[in-house]
Amino acid sequence: METIYLDHAATTRPLAQLTSFYGAYACEGWQNPSALYAPAVDVQKQLEEARKHLLTLFGAQGHKCFFTSCGTESANTVILRGFKQRKNINFVCAMGEHPCVEESFRFLEQSGQEVRYVRPDEWGGMAAERVADAVDENTALVSVMHVSNETGALNDIVGIARAVKQRNPQALFHSDGVQAFGKQRLTGTEQIDFYTVSAHKLGAFKGTGAIFAKPQIKPLLLGGGQEGGVRSGTQNTLGILAFDAAVRHFEKNAFAPEGLKDYFRTCVDAAVEDVIWNAPSNGCEHIVSVSFPGVNGETLLHMLEQDGIYISTGSACSSKKGKGRIATALGWDDVRAAGSVRISFGPSNTREQIPIVTEKIKQAVQTLRRFQRR
Ligand code: PLP
Repeated sequence: METIYLDHAATTRPLAQLTSFYGAYACEGWQNPSALYAPAVDVQKQLEEARKHLLTLFGAQGHKCFFTSCGTESANTVILRGFKQRKNINFVCAMGEHPCVEESFRFLEQSGQEVRYVRPDEWGGMAAERVADAVDENTALVSVMHVSNETGALNDIVGIARAVKQRNPQALFHSDGVQAFGKQRLTGTEQIDFYTVSAHKLGAFKGTGAIFAKPQIKPLLLGGGQEGGVRSGTQNTLGILAFDAAVRHFEKNAFAPEGLKDYFRTCVDAAVEDVIWNAPSNGCEHIVSVSFPGVNGETLLHMLEQDGIYISTGSACSSKKGKGRIATALGWDDVRAAGSVRISFGPSNTREQIPIVTEKIKQAVQTLRRFQRR
């Protein structure tokens, strides 16, 4: 059965051209980049070239790049180790952030720090004024994601960072860029103190992430002092070089075919009654969330799976007890939360797949609603 993969926000299939990296790494560039002999120095040079290129793509303005093992480690490091400890400080975090951000702030809270959670709109978008209103002269760090992995909402993080700094020039601003890096244009990064990214969301391998940072960060991992002392541990050279190669690929090629999301919305609107779109139409191109009232998102997912179509529920309806974390953050009622699914597009998707997927969704939704309404 031919499958249609529509869960590119969870992870992406590594680009076909990257399979040669395994062989090259096994036969040649396997030396420890910290060693002093020529082949190792050559590996180190390649790492530095990758670092330089990733910084350029980010639009670095005085930022440094530190490689980590994933987006989770990157965000944890910034939130737990990227601020200066003083008396009476507070933190500001958007509600509905990825758990790697939210749980880091919960950890700070459990350690006695004050964290202010700011509610986004019902589509996961965050207005700059709302964030700035929570900032005061004691705010140490603020975090708002660039693209929501749940709804695809695209935040103006440059504007948010500006609003934060206007309120308190000393407050540091972090954005989780895992769903955005390499897919979303970003200019004017001057006031973004930290931006965290992950390779496997962009056609590279799992196990590599990075932090773009301006302020100093204290290490989370202690050891050999790699990555300028910010992240000890021998670098995942294969992963880093593959990450850079994937980024270069997507500089020339769109991640998801243009117009696919809008076409999907149009087809679903025409085929299925009573649909709630959970993302603004000006969200990112590759993620869309939709609720089918009267349907259980997880059941819909498994019905589509039988036809070889892979989607996600996101985490809106992942809670076993009523509303999930995201639904609560975005103020969705139980019906909207339970019926929500996330569709995320990527390089393997085509326009021709959309009517096929729409038809299967239509049939499944009709069947499930018949059962629910009896
Ligand atoms: N942040 C966002 C917005 C994500 O979507 C993800 C992964 O789903 C992460 C962070 C975590 O990235 P990683 O899987 O590399 O730890």
